[in-house]
Amino acid sequence: MPAEFTKVGFNIFMALIKCHECQGQVSDHARTCPHCGAPVIATIKRRQKAALIDLGIRLAFAVVIIIIVSITFHRFMSRAMAPLKAEQQQQQPH
Ligand SMILES: [Zn+2]
Repeated sequence: MPAEFTKVGFNIFMALIKCHECQGQVSDHARTCPHCGAPVIATIKRRQKAALIDLGIRLAFAVVIIIIVSITFHRFMSRAMAPLKAEQQQQQPH
């Protein structure tokens, strides 16, 4: 991997922020400050947001699964009931 790419990737994904406790430089991906051990608020907020988005995706996924299952079930049932309905129509004179 070229060194430049790694450097750019590092800058994008590992921004350095100031610790609100000791003003030391902390990676915004660090959960706690390596200098004073204070929790990094930006990381916590992002994790909470990510957790919320994750929950939303899971909920949407569950809804889609439920819709697919109900459609499949409905189709299966109507296919299973089709011979019965045809039989009933044949028995009833029009
Ligand atoms: Zn600190």
